[in-house]
Amino acid sequence: MDELTHHRGAVDQARFRDMNQLIKRRVDEFLGSTGNSYLFMCECSLESCEAMITLGEGDYAGVRSGANRFLVLPDHVDPLAERVLERHATFWTIELGRDAGHGAYDR
Ligand SMILES: [Zn+2]
Repeated sequence: MDELTHHRGAVDQARFRDMNQLIKRRVDEFLGSTGNSYLFMCECSLESCEAMITLGEGDYAGVRSGANRFLVLPDHVDPLAERVLERHATFWTIELGRDAGHGAYDR
């Protein structure tokens, strides 16, 4: 479990997010832009993670509804740097932020 201590960092996470958006665009070009399912890369901060997540169009749009949101497998969360926004059976939506990991009233 030592690799769990290595983190990609926010810049790399954004890179994975960009790649996922490219995946979606390519699939949409090929199949048309409605009703598709996509195989996305986990956008978590674990350097060793190569997990893939199958997601429908609506769920993906929900993840992408905020600039600071990322798509991860359940439990692929760094509680010190990330906050879980939504928990689904096959994926979670997390948010990166300075204040993540601290309660909203912790100031
Ligand atoms: Zn992951």
